[in-house]
Amino acid sequence: MAPRRKKIYEGKAKTLYEGPEPGTLVQYFKDDATAFNAQKKATIEGKGVLNNRLSEYFMTGLTNIGVPNHFIKRLNMREQLIRQVEIVPLEVIVRNFAAGSISKRLGLEEGTPLPRPIVEYSYKNDDLGDPLVPEEYIIAFGWANQQDLDDIVALALRVNDFLTGVFYAVGIKLIDFKIEVGRVWEGDFMRLLVADEISPDSCRLWDMKTGEKLDKDVFRRDLGNLTDAYTEVARRLGVLPTNTAQIKPTLIN
Ligand code: UDP
Repeated sequence: MAPRRKKIYEGKAKTLYEGPEPGTLVQYFKDDATAFNAQKKATIEGKGVLNNRLSEYFMTGLTNIGVPNHFIKRLNMREQLIRQVEIVPLEVIVRNFAAGSISKRLGLEEGTPLPRPIVEYSYKNDDLGDPLVPEEYIIAFGWANQQDLDDIVALALRVNDFLTGVFYAVGIKLIDFKIEVGRVWEGDFMRLLVADEISPDSCRLWDMKTGEKLDKDVFRRDLGNLTDAYTEVARRLGVLPTNTAQIKPTLIN
């Protein structure tokens, strides 16, 4: 369908359009999935609809516990209204259990509990494959200052505690996740907000009992049907479009 609004940015899984008012954007969730720095690509029917709902659910929960974020309201099956922010060029990763790159780097078996939540940063740059960077680099290159980083860690750990509890309540273990953070200015005062999305695309989620993966690793590692996994997460959280048949792409815009 032709976009009704001016396109601001097109990413791998989402497109941003100009919003109805200054300082707002419309975030459109696509069905596209990528992994391994976009070397693996697919279109996964229904993923965008599910992630739109799931990100709405988590961001609304964060608002309700006082964690600032970009979400304003969901507009339709695939779009939500968000605050326009200046994205800090970092992927902020929080880990509770070893998996993925930390397992490889340190030779830790996936699922090993970590001594405490670990927060780490990747520099958002597709050409470089989002390299892991220390705080020293972030401050030296001016991507964020020490105060920002202290605030980002506090934000990330609050998101971690919230998500850990929400998933625990439905029998899911939060292994790790990624958030992005954005800046907004209120007069001379700058604030950091949780931005982008929170969905099974950016988390590792394991069934508490069986260890079954319910996140994007299903796609990365060819473990089964990704939409089924995300639907299961949404079902457990009570977050499903009223008519689940509408997830089928023939019926959605
Ligand atoms: N992650 C993400 N986008 C990225 C890289 C990582 O959402 O570009 C998420 C990933 O889904 C996982 C967490 O961040 O939940 C930690 O990922 P890791 O560093 O282990 O990298 P991966 O093994 O996913 O490449």
